[in-house]
Amino acid sequence: MNPKMLFWIPAALRLLMIFGASAIVCFCFGLTAGLLFCLFTMFVMVVLQLHYLYRLGGWLDNPQGQKLPDGWGAWTDIFSRLYRLRRDDEKNQAELSEWLARFRQAMHLLPDGVVIMDDVLFLEWCNPAAERHLGLRHGRDKGMRVTNLIRNPDFIDYIILGRYDQPLLLNLRERKLVVQIIPFENRRQILVTHDATESERIDMMRRDFIANASHELRTPLTVINGFLEIAQAHPNLDPQVRAGHLKMMSEQGQRMQNLIGDMLTLTRLESIDYPMRPEPVFIEAMLKNILQEVEILSAGQHVFSLRIEGPDINGNTEELRSAFNNLVSNAVRYTPAGGKIDLLWQNTQIGPQFVVRDTGIGFSREHISRLTERFYRVDKSGSRETRGTGLGLAIVKHVLLRHGGVLGVESSPEKGSVFTARLPASSVRANKVTLD
Ligand code: ADP
Repeated sequence: MNPKMLFWIPAALRLLMIFGASAIVCFCFGLTAGLLFCLFTMFVMVVLQLHYLYRLGGWLDNPQGQKLPDGWGAWTDIFSRLYRLRRDDEKNQAELSEWLARFRQAMHLLPDGVVIMDDVLFLEWCNPAAERHLGLRHGRDKGMRVTNLIRNPDFIDYIILGRYDQPLLLNLRERKLVVQIIPFENRRQILVTHDATESERIDMMRRDFIANASHELRTPLTVINGFLEIAQAHPNLDPQVRAGHLKMMSEQGQRMQNLIGDMLTLTRLESIDYPMRPEPVFIEAMLKNILQEVEILSAGQHVFSLRIEGPDINGNTEELRSAFNNLVSNAVRYTPAGGKIDLLWQNTQIGPQFVVRDTGIGFSREHISRLTERFYRVDKSGSRETRGTGLGLAIVKHVLLRHGGVLGVESSPEKGSVFTARLPASSVRANKVTLD
């Protein structure tokens, strides 16, 4: 037998002792004395049991506030067991509260939304991410039906169809959410939400980029194919006409090469595996070199001026050369013959900057925020004649970003534009600071 079950033995022994003592009293003082003794001791025992029962009742009513008595006889064992039970219970409670606190904290930090509902979709609990994603308020909406709170036709259809093995892509509150319901326990369901706005945006950008790049490559390829077909169909073409065709084919080939070069540059600039390693950048040599190149592009049609008033800096020479070159060649391409192009390198309180000012065709304000988008062109029809790739300003933006700088743009139609590549003051090479 389980030793813990033997707690009745001392009580039985005590009863036997009372009967034994009563028998001795009966033998010594007669039957009446023996009976009275027995009744009295039994009465004392009953009063004692009632006392401890009363104390136990009081403790059960308020276990936290009252201390357990030590007890007597079998009560000692009962009270010590209750005490142990209570101590274990308190320990379990503490562990449970700790787990609950950790669970709550984890749920609060989770970027994904979690809503716990009962089997008929009444909201029981939700975390802050779910509040943000779905516009719920735990305190306000608890106990309400989720379909009354999220009034979106796609979501309602998802609930009606009940195909919870597949997630649903939901457009809600200007976000793209991936939503899924997972049944759990017997009568509960979890609604999980994941914000896919950013990844969808990146996906869309990638799709657009591929579509735009294919479109840009298709135009020169069509031209080249056209001339090749003519050459095949007319083997005895006039040499002068043929030379003209070859020249145009080579221009289109060059255009494709520029485009692919710019796409590779952009990919490299965006790659996190390609960190920027600063080195001394000798501005004067670089800008003079760029000026020589763009003068060839201009073919004497523009008037240039170059002022270098700022210091040398630390940065990536190749990247900065490509960015500055893009700004200056844009000025050449978008300034009609006879226009003026001023280049200025200067230092300011907030850092050095390269300013390119032209008297070209300019553009209105609404284009400024989109200029650095890939393949964005102010004049969609005419711009390809300027032999641009549509990626120049995107490259400028990325190069400046990698150097901690920004691009400033001011322009007015028919008057001209000012592009300013601003670099941080920290990029200035020590001992060569001159302030404007
Ligand atoms: P693109 O190769 O077409 O020049 P960019 O990214 O360099 O591509 O420039 C984007 C657009 O910004 C150009 O298509 C043009 O419409 C406009 N743009 C850039 N620079 C100038 C400028 N100096 N003057 C007027 N428009 C400009």
